[in-house]
Amino acid sequence: MSLIVQKFGGTSVADVEKIRAAARKAIRAQRQGHRVVMVVSAMGKNTDTLLDLASQVGDNPPAREMDMLLSTGEQVSVALVAMAIHELGAKATSLTGGQIGMKTDNSYSKARIQSISTERIERLLDQGNIVVAAGFQGIDDDLNITTLGRGGSDTTAVALAAVLGADACEIYTDVDGVYTTDPRKLPEARRVEVISYDEMLELASLGAGVMHSRSIEFAKKFGVPIHVRSSFSDTEGTMIVAEAESTTQPVSGAAMTADEARVTVLGVPDVPGKSLQIFSAIAARKIAVDMVVQNVGKDGRADISFTVPRGELKSTLQALDQVIAAVGAEGVTHDDQVSKVSVVGLNMATQTNVASRMFRALSDAGVNIQMITTSEIKISTLVPKDQAANALRAVHEAFQLHHRPDDAKSWKQIKADRGATDVETLVNRLRADALEALTLTGITLTKDQARVTLHGVPDRPGIAADVFEMIGEAKIFVDMIVQGYDGEDGSTSVSLTVEKKDLKRAMEVAESIRAKHGLRDIQGADNIAKVTVSGIGLRSHTHVATLLFDRLATDQINVEMINTSELQVNAVIDAAKAVEATEGLRKTFAESLR
Ligand code: ADP
Ligand code: ASP
Ligand code: MG
Repeated sequence: MSLIVQKFGGTSVADVEKIRAAARKAIRAQRQGHRVVMVVSAMGKNTDTLLDLASQVGDNPPAREMDMLLSTGEQVSVALVAMAIHELGAKATSLTGGQIGMKTDNSYSKARIQSISTERIERLLDQGNIVVAAGFQGIDDDLNITTLGRGGSDTTAVALAAVLGADACEIYTDVDGVYTTDPRKLPEARRVEVISYDEMLELASLGAGVMHSRSIEFAKKFGVPIHVRSSFSDTEGTMIVAEAESTTQPVSGAAMTADEARVTVLGVPDVPGKSLQIFSAIAARKIAVDMVVQNVGKDGRADISFTVPRGELKSTLQALDQVIAAVGAEGVTHDDQVSKVSVVGLNMATQTNVASRMFRALSDAGVNIQMITTSEIKISTLVPKDQAANALRAVHEAFQLHHRPDDAKSWKQIKADRGATDVETLVNRLRADALEALTLTGITLTKDQARVTLHGVPDRPGIAADVFEMIGEAKIFVDMIVQGYDGEDGSTSVSLTVEKKDLKRAMEVAESIRAKHGLRDIQGADNIAKVTVSGIGLRSHTHVATLLFDRLATDQINVEMINTSELQVNAVIDAAKAVEATEGLRKTFAESLR
C-alpha cells in the first residue's frame, strides 16, 4: 500500500476552517487507498507570537526554554487536526516530535536530526490511523525538547518521507508551487513545473523561503521527490527532483535576502591560520557565513569581508570581539543596510557570459554592486538595501525568467525518461545512517589555474559588467569571481580565476580596463590551484569551512580565495602545495567521505 506524507504550513492551518480543509485532504488520500502521515506547523503566525511573548519576559531567554516554548505551537495544531479528522469520521492520532522518536543533537533552535524510529508510526498506520506528526521539533538524548530552526517543519516532513520510504512527499502551502522568484516580491515570477534539488538548495539558502533548505539536503541525499502545491486548490504544483526543467537555460531562479549585513575585518596579518581563528569563532555559534571575500594582501595584511543574516550580526560582532586581538587584526567595520541578490542555475557552470549579463542588467538599472561571489551554479551580489527590489526585477528580466524555456520538460516526461529506483535498498541504507550527518562526495584538485586581480575599482555601477563582457568577448572562461572592499575610499578589488593558458590574454583585457576606468593596479598570478570539497549541505554544516581552514593552516598553506555554496567549498591556494593540501583534506574529512 502506498504511503504519502502531507505537510501543512502555518497559513494552511491558520484557522478552524483551514484545519478542516487540511483534514479533508488527508482523509481523501486515505480513502483513495494510501497510508497517510501528516506533518503540521504551528497555526498561522503562532511561532512569531510565542517569540514575541518570550522577548517581553527578557532579552536573553535560555535556549532550552525557548525551544520548550516554541514547540507548543505545533502541539496545538496536531491535536486540533486529529480532532478535525475524527469529527469528519476517520481515525487519527497526533504525535509530538518525541513521540515519533525524532532524535536530534542538542543544539537548541538549530537542532539536527540524528534518527527517527518508525515503529510507532507504522503500527498506527497499520491500525488505520492517519498519523498527525508535529513538525519542527525533536528530542535530544536527555529528552529535552529541541527545534530544527524556523521553517523546520519542511525538514520533518521530508525526513519522515525518507525513513518511511514514502511514495510522495507533498508540501501544502500558500503558493501553488516554486516560482522563479518570490511571487510576492515580483508578480511577474513564473511557476516552474520542475526544479532540481541543487537549484532549490541554493535558492532556499539564498532567500527563497518557500522551502527550508535542510529539507532539500534530505531529499537529495535520499532521493525523495517533493511536490510543492497549494493547500487551497487541487492544481499540480512544482516537483523538486534530481533533474532540472531545462538543459540549456543558464539561470532558473533568482532570490533575494533583504536583511543582510556585511562585516569586514581590517588588516588581518596575511599568514596561515588567521581565517581559521576568525571563522571558527563564528561557526562555533552556528552562524552560516556567506560571500567570504579576502583581498589579495598588501603590506602583509589583508581585509576579510563576509556577510551574515542581519539577525545574526550582533552575535557575529560579539564573536569577533573575543578573537580580534588574538588575530592581530586592526579593526572591524560593518554595514547592515545591504541585501543579497543572487541567480541560480544548473547550466551556468558550462556557459560563458552569465555573469556579465547579470552585472550589465544591474548596471543598467543603476545598481551599485558592493560585493560579488560566485560558485559553480550561483552568482551572488551584495547591493544597497534600498536598491534590492530594483536589482531583483532587473536580473529576473535579463534572464527572461518569466518565459518558459523552449526545451522545458514536464515532470511526466522526466519520469518517463527515468528507470525505476530501488526504494527498498535506499531505505535500508539510510536507516543505518545518522540522518543529517555531513555527506561528502569528493575532494578534488584543479591544477593550472591563474588569477587576475584588479585593484582600486571605483565605486560606481558598470565596471564589473565591462570587465566580464570584455573577458567573454575574448572567449576566456572564468571560474571564480570575487569582488570585495579594497580601501577606505569605497573602492573595491575584483579577482577572477581563469585557466593558466588564458592568463596572458586575460591580463591584456585587464590592462585595457585599467586604462579605461583609471584603476589603481592590476596583478596576475599563474602559480595557483583550486581544491574543492563537494557534498551536500556544506553551508549549513558550519564546521566544514573551519575544518578546511584548520587543515590548511596546520600545513602552513595560505588561502588566497575561497567560495562556498551548498554543494562545494573551493579554496584557491599556492600550486606548489596543492597535492599536499588535497591529501591533508582527504584525511581530515575521511569520516564524512562516501
Ligand atoms: P508555510 O507556512 O506553508 O511553510 P512559507 O511562508 O514558509 O509557507 O513559504 C511560502 C512562501 O514562500 C510564499 O508565500 C512565498 O511568498 C515565499 N517564497 C519565497 N520564494 C519563493 C519562490 N521562489 N517560490 C514560491 N514562493 C516563494
Ligand atoms: N512553526 C515553525 C516556524 O514558524 C516551523 C514551521 O512552520 O516550519 O518557523
Ligand atoms: Mg515554510
